Amino acid sequence: MKWIYIFLSGVLLGVLMFFLGAGAPVPTVMSAMRASTAVAPPIAIPGPAQVDMAEPSSIQRVASTRFAPAVVIVKPVTNQLLIPVAGVSASQLSDTFNQARGIDRRHEALDIPAPKGTHVFAVADGKVAKLFDSKPGGLTIYQFDISEKFVYYYAHLDRYAEGIEEGILLKRGDLIGYVGATGNAATPHLHFTIFELGPEKQWWKGSAINPFTLLGGVQPP
Ligand SMILES: [Zn+2]
Repeated sequence: MKWIYIFLSGVLLGVLMFFLGAGAPVPTVMSAMRASTAVAPPIAIPGPAQVDMAEPSSIQRVASTRFAPAVVIVKPVTNQLLIPVAGVSASQLSDTFNQARGIDRRHEALDIPAPKGTHVFAVADGKVAKLFDSKPGGLTIYQFDISEKFVYYYAHLDRYAEGIEEGILLKRGDLIGYVGATGNAATPHLHFTIFELGPEKQWWKGSAINPFTLLGGVQPP
């Protein structure tokens, strides 16, 4: 009979343990679970929701900022180009693009006067397409833009900057040469223009685009 007593008390103790021992932790676990189901979902749901909201927008933001220069590069229409002559501000630029040259020719470039030896900078990123010494242009640099649909043309240079070679990738603002009066220039100045290339992307064949506003120049009223 004693074993029954022991068994029953054991069962009782077990039940008691369940309610007291396990019972106590259970409510804690339950309350924690309840708390976690009550609190966590609001945290978890707005969390991921916010993340979902934040992620694409931040990706879009990254994408759009990555796109921004691409837009500038493919279509160099904003005034994002660096003025290629050191010490010259946009207000000092004069639009000499449509000046007559001879009877039926236009200048189709900007002349930016500066003392001989003034630094000439790359207006934007892009590869050096050609270093060319021509009779009218003197020492010249043809630089592709990043899309290679346009060419930046710098002429009458006194000399090239050190390390300038065909095929190297220039960054906007890189020193590429020095103002001079080579070719048919009477006085030291940089002759600068942009050519839009045809599908063959031949650096020597393109139609000129006025760089005046692209360099930040403002037409007088
Ligand atoms: Zn010129």
